[in-house]
Amino acid sequence: MTMKSELPHSCGSCTNRWAGGNTAHCGGAHGCHINFSSPTAFDRHRREGRCLDPAAAGLVTLDRAGYAVWGSPADEAALDRLRAIRAAA
Ligand SMILES: [Zn+2]
Ligand SMILES: [Zn+2]
Repeated sequence: MTMKSELPHSCGSCTNRWAGGNTAHCGGAHGCHINFSSPTAFDRHRREGRCLDPAAAGLVTLDRAGYAVWGSPADEAALDRLRAIRAAA
């Protein structure tokens, strides 16, 4: 079980922590401070310079070890394939 405090990435403006080089955090003064599974998922919650509710953008919560991100179910399927390829290599 991964402790939240062991996660390598954090935001200076909120208490979110996360891992994974592909994880995108919506930080900054005007960000919604939600974690996204990929830059693609991040882009989907941004419309005309504003943040959408991720659920309204068609994203779903995905559990990671010790944290949660929002991503699309299709992203998750692609990641699973990638993990399978890496595991086999
Ligand atoms: Zn946002
Ligand atoms: Zn933040």
